[in-house]
Amino acid sequence: MLIAIDGPAAAGKGTLARRLAAHYGLAFLDTGSLYRAVGCRVLEEGGDPADAAFAARIARALDMDEIDETHLRTAEAGAAASKVAVIPAVRQALLDFQRSFAARDGGAVLDGRDIGTVVAPHADVKLFVTASPEERARRRYEELKLAGAEVDQGRILDEIIARDARDSGRADAPLRAADDAHLLDTTKLDIEAAFRMAVSIIDRAMEGSVS
Ligand code: C5P
Repeated sequence: MLIAIDGPAAAGKGTLARRLAAHYGLAFLDTGSLYRAVGCRVLEEGGDPADAAFAARIARALDMDEIDETHLRTAEAGAAASKVAVIPAVRQALLDFQRSFAARDGGAVLDGRDIGTVVAPHADVKLFVTASPEERARRRYEELKLAGAEVDQGRILDEIIARDARDSGRADAPLRAADDAHLLDTTKLDIEAAFRMAVSIIDRAMEGSVS
């Protein structure tokens, strides 16, 4: 079984995707970590994430099996990721790895922005997970505060809106729901309720596909 999960930043799709992978016994790939790794490496090497040739070279050289997620969850990494993600040559360099992960025996869950539309348009089930920008900013604020960071909720909201605009407005593989994706709006749902709803959508879709 192959499950594609897309949606905007901080909609809760990462947590949901991890839980779904554990529930169905599937491998899991957070494709955002690939873009974050490229963005961070560009910054570490003193480059500009908007420099297409530089970022593409970094993306081609990236060892995707060796990504250490611990330094990739910062706001700077997210912003750099969404800048390198606009560059078609960067997307192309990361595509084969994502497609072979999606094709692995035993099935997989991938989460990102273009899984249902570009990486795995043939996925068995596609979920598009959203929440209002204000709710996403609130969640990200709580998460960062809990981790001890000094953060301003208004600034987080501005960053989320800027990232949404960059992700949805780019020409290559923009953030959008596939025509056959199931929409899951988590604005008023906690993670438990969102998980139960996702399981019910997936179980129904899989029943439909075997009968
Ligand atoms: O999901 P996450 O916030 O970690 O993704 C970071 C950035 O990577 C996104 O804002 C987006 O620009 C980019 N991305 C993408 N396609 C994916 C996954 C992430 O363009 N499949």
